[in-house]
Amino acid sequence: MPLNTIDRADTFMFQTYRRSPITLVRGDSCRVWDENGKEYIDFVGGIAVCNLGHSSPIVSEALCEQSKKLVHVSNLFYTQPQTELAEILVENSFADRVFFCNSGAEANEAAIKLARRYSTEKFGPERHVIITMDNSFHGRTMATLSATGQQKIRKGFDPLLQGFRFVPFNDLENLRCAIDGSVCAVMLEPIQGEGGVVLPDPDYLKGVREICTEHAMLLILDEVQVGMGRTGRFFAHQHFGITPDIMTLAKALGNGLPIGAMLAKQELTDAFGPGSHATTFGGTPLIAAGALAVVKSLLNDGWIENAREMGDYFKDRLTDLQQKYSVIKDVRGLGLMLGLMSDREVADIANACMERGFLINCVQERVLRFVPPLIIGKEEIDLLINCLDKVFKEI
Ligand SMILES: *Cc1c(COP(=O)(O)O)cnc(C)c1O
Repeated sequence: MPLNTIDRADTFMFQTYRRSPITLVRGDSCRVWDENGKEYIDFVGGIAVCNLGHSSPIVSEALCEQSKKLVHVSNLFYTQPQTELAEILVENSFADRVFFCNSGAEANEAAIKLARRYSTEKFGPERHVIITMDNSFHGRTMATLSATGQQKIRKGFDPLLQGFRFVPFNDLENLRCAIDGSVCAVMLEPIQGEGGVVLPDPDYLKGVREICTEHAMLLILDEVQVGMGRTGRFFAHQHFGITPDIMTLAKALGNGLPIGAMLAKQELTDAFGPGSHATTFGGTPLIAAGALAVVKSLLNDGWIENAREMGDYFKDRLTDLQQKYSVIKDVRGLGLMLGLMSDREVADIANACMERGFLINCVQERVLRFVPPLIIGKEEIDLLINCLDKVFKEI
C-alpha cells in the first residue's frame, strides 16, 4: 500500500509546519478543493497572498504568454517586465526606486542592508542600530528573525545578528527613550499581522514619523502583509497620513508567485550602487510579468474598493457575533485584514470551521485571523458568519 500524501510529506520533509490534515489540489476564486473533492471557502488566502483569488485567469494568462517569450536571464541584463513593474509601483507610491527579490524576508533584508549602508556612509559605522517592535514579525532569515520581536521565533538560533533594539508597539514614549546616536532607523509593520492583527493607535504612526524626521532616522515600513490593497488602500500607511523612507512588499505582490520588493526614496539611491546588493532570481521576467498583471488588476478593477466595502461589512457581522458570545473579546482590523480575539485558545474553532468547509487561521493562540482574497463577496462572508455562529454556540 503506498502511503498517502500526508504520511509521505511527514516522512520526507522537515516537519517545520503544523499543517492542517487536508491535501489541497485545486482552487478557483475564493474556493479550494481537497483530494477527496471537498470544497472549502478560503479565508486564509495563502496567508494574505491570493488577493485576486485562486487560479486567477489574469495571472495565468500573463505567465503563459511570458513563459513562451523569456523566463530568466539574470540581472546582468535589462528586461522589460521588471522595468514596467518598477515603474507602476513608483508611480503609485511615495517611492522613487525599487529593488526586486523573492520573498518578504528578503525584502526586509534589503531594507536592513540599505538603511545600514546609507547611515554608515552618511554618519559613520557607529550608527547602525535599528529599532523594531515587541511582537513584530519580519521573517525567518537570520537578520529578519533578529529584527523580529517574538521569543518563540528567535529561540535556539543564537548568536543572532547584532544591532536591533526592541520597544513596545503603540508607545511613543518608550521609542523616544530608546533613541541615541547609534540608531539609524525604526522598522515596523503599520498593522501587526502575525502579532495578532494589532492596529496602531490613531496618531501613533504620525508620531513615529515625526520622531524619525527629528532625529534623521529612516522609517522602514514592513507592508509585506498589509500592502497591495489588503486594508482598503493600496498601502496601509496611506490610511495614516504618513510616508516612510523605505517600504517592503511581498505576499500579495505576485498573488502567489514568489516576489518581494523593497521601495525607497531618491536620497537612498547612492547607498545601493552597483555591486552593493543582488539576487539571481529577483524580478525575473516570468514572475515580474505575473506581478505586473496583479498590480494592474488591483489598481484598475476595483478590488481595493471591494476590500474596503467587504471589510466593513465583514467587521460588522463579526461585531454582531461579539454581542452574542462572551468568549469573543475583541473584533479588530482594517479592510480585509480582520482579527477576532477570544479569551480562550481558538485552534479548535478553526478546526470545526474547516470540517464545515471554511479555512481560517489562528495567530497568537487566541486570535482568529481573516485575510481572504480581496474579490470576496457578501455571500461567502455570510456563509462563514453562519458557520462561526453555529461553532460558537456549540463550544
Ligand atoms: C509574511 C511576512 C514576512 C515574511 O515574508 P516571507 O515571504 O515569508 O519571507 C515579513 N513581514 C511580514 C509583516 C509578514 O507578514
